[in-house]
Amino acid sequence: MKLKIWQAGEPVLRQKARPVAVEEITTPTIQALVEAMAETMRDAPGVGLAAPQVGVPLQLAVIEDLPEYIDRMPADQVKRLERVPVPFHVIINPKLIIDEWEPVESFEGCLSVAGYSAIVPRARKVRAECWNEKAEAITIEAHGWYARILQHEIDHLHGFLYVDRMKSRSLTTLDNYLRNWKDRTPEQFWAAVDGD
Ligand code: ZN
Repeated sequence: MKLKIWQAGEPVLRQKARPVAVEEITTPTIQALVEAMAETMRDAPGVGLAAPQVGVPLQLAVIEDLPEYIDRMPADQVKRLERVPVPFHVIINPKLIIDEWEPVESFEGCLSVAGYSAIVPRARKVRAECWNEKAEAITIEAHGWYARILQHEIDHLHGFLYVDRMKSRSLTTLDNYLRNWKDRTPEQFWAAVDGD
């Protein structure tokens, strides 16, 4: 079932979500939510979707980065962003640990801030301690683009959006991003505008 993606301005996107009780994870309710969120993410399409984005205040998100999304990016960007396919998986009650706080800049967007994009600095390397949809405790290690996805989704679970972390002077409509910046680096963006 495809769900409605809620947009910035809804209180649920600005509230800390509630942790899911471990015994709750395997219930039909949570399993159905995971399935519906997967369908909604693929339909959007997006590389991640957090429960508050579909109006559910729970600490749960789905993530998937497909090879066909990456194929559409220029190869030098794929390399710079260290973007590799990430199979579908679920993170529940994640705890984020920054392993390498060397900020990497990239344009980023959000399905809940539809129509815009901006440069967001994110840590290059992180870990997430969490539960999966089978109620197993897991630790994820991620770097590059995958680390960015984790930081973005875990922010959602605490009521944060990328606009809280973006370089505000880089804000662009999605149309202008695709027209002007899609194939260019953040460095090229900063060189083309005054100040940062
Ligand atoms: Zn988002």
